[in-house]
Amino acid sequence: MSVIVLDRGSYTWEDAGKELDWQPGGGINIAHEAVRRHALSDRRDHVAIRCIRQDRSCINLTYAELNTQASRFAVVLRRLGVRDGHTVAVLLGRTPELYIAALGTWMRTAMFCPLYAAFGPEPIRQRLVRGDVQVLVTTTSMFERKVWHMMSALSELQTVLLTDAPSHMAPNVLSLPLLMADADADHVIPRTDPQTPASLHFTSGTTGMPKGAVHVHNAILTHVATARSVLELRDDDVFWCTADPGWVTGTSYGIIAPLVCGVTMVVDEAEFDASRWYGILEEHRVTVWYTAPTAIRRLMRLHIKPRETFDLSALRSVHSVGEPLPADAVRWGMDMLGMPVLDNWWQTETGGIMIANTPSMSVRPGSMGLPVPGVTAAIAEVTNTEARIIETPDVQGQLVLQRNVPSLCTTYLHEDERYKRLFRGIWYITGDIAKRDSDGYFWYVGRGDDIIKTSGHMVGPFEVERVLVEHRAVVEAAVIGMPDPVVGEFVRAYVVLADGVGNSEMIRQDILAEARRRLGPAVAPKEILVVDAIPKTRSGKIMRRLLKARAQGLPEGDTSTIEQG
Ligand code: ATP
Ligand code: MG
Repeated sequence: MSVIVLDRGSYTWEDAGKELDWQPGGGINIAHEAVRRHALSDRRDHVAIRCIRQDRSCINLTYAELNTQASRFAVVLRRLGVRDGHTVAVLLGRTPELYIAALGTWMRTAMFCPLYAAFGPEPIRQRLVRGDVQVLVTTTSMFERKVWHMMSALSELQTVLLTDAPSHMAPNVLSLPLLMADADADHVIPRTDPQTPASLHFTSGTTGMPKGAVHVHNAILTHVATARSVLELRDDDVFWCTADPGWVTGTSYGIIAPLVCGVTMVVDEAEFDASRWYGILEEHRVTVWYTAPTAIRRLMRLHIKPRETFDLSALRSVHSVGEPLPADAVRWGMDMLGMPVLDNWWQTETGGIMIANTPSMSVRPGSMGLPVPGVTAAIAEVTNTEARIIETPDVQGQLVLQRNVPSLCTTYLHEDERYKRLFRGIWYITGDIAKRDSDGYFWYVGRGDDIIKTSGHMVGPFEVERVLVEHRAVVEAAVIGMPDPVVGEFVRAYVVLADGVGNSEMIRQDILAEARRRLGPAVAPKEILVVDAIPKTRSGKIMRRLLKARAQGLPEGDTSTIEQG
């Protein structure tokens, strides 16, 4: 088993490289590093994945079993003629087949493309077409409901593999169990150039049409490094990443990072449910938990004091990603879980955690933390030709990263020109606006597209939303800029009121007055609209672009990723 490096504070991807096996001649294959090498070591009987079913029964897969199954899947792909450069999409919930298919696809050096299981036919069609997908792995029910009727329009798609069909359904719609039963588990993982494409992740579509970010096998260096330096994973850990497998977090930290460290990862087939979640933390003695602000907010709203009802003594750290984590959520963690919720920042494009609060450092509630070892982050003024780094602390600007990150996506599929525009020399432009304080901590302001310019001020919507949701009557808020001939843009807020609070002029005035008092008149909303729901992406991000389009009667653009609204 790999050596655990104790000095996590400076653990970078050079150290990560030393932990890996590597293939002859400097090859690197994610499936080899995450599973095969453990299956060939004394780690073979350690549980790799514990899948908790809806009824809370468990399926355990050891590293040896996972390796055998993934190897069979790779053989199935080989027999189907899947080659390097082909794409295998997986439309499944959190079931063992998903993990087997991902790892088998990497063993075959094809590209793995996870699709969110709750997508309807249109977003699925879009991604299958734009991803040039040759093989789709799904269940019979999802196939019949979402894919079957459009097969003739999917010219690239050669084969559908059904994970639960007892027999083949058509010449190109096959039973995976039948094929697996007939496949040997002897797949030899070829020497894999580190720059070989491994995963295709579509972005969340918060700001526009989702982009297809291509990640290579070399990305694993970031996954190992951040598993050690941020999540601080060690051999005996039980790790739970609640992210849906359809998003990049579900692959980078829901498959690769824990497995490459050889730990046991917990996977829950069911959707969010507070008691169930606390119960899982208790029953499975989860030590490291990686979740998202949406989940934390939902837990905060309930009047459960978890440590009075559940034994959470195994828990060592709680991490969050995906959206801003307000300071009160960090403090809620301290009060309710006995530890701060640790925020970290990254994007689909970066493939792994870039800026983070870690268990070993002093946490500043409301801050995204410090760049992880190896990452150089800065605040810059970005022009068409260059990124001018702003050295003065506390100045708002574009968040940029030096491009030497192993997991940075290598292109946007079919949109290479757009990808190239993300760079200015050595700097990758993230598109987010942030500040850095004098101690080097980064503070999120907002997405570049969402920043509101009002009377010469730059207002980040999150700054306003954070204050609005602290009002007792408000459960959710979204803030946008509305065009105005005098001030450029004025700040408009949409709020969802708490159960039992009626929509009245008085309550709106009360919310406005409090916002003005706390934010000042320049930043506070001029207008508050009460709505039933805020439109969000399926991954829980507020879609301000949709609110803006609706407010101004403009086209709504791609709406395939909306959760509600
Ligand atoms: P699209 O690029 O298609 O518009 P998206 O940017 O929402 O969608 P993701 O890559 O899933 O797609 O999300 C990354 C973005 O999420 C970041 O750029 C940032 O705006 C936000 N984000 C992620 N983590 C954090 C965090 N800890 N704090 C604040 N914002 C975060
Ligand atoms: Mg983005």
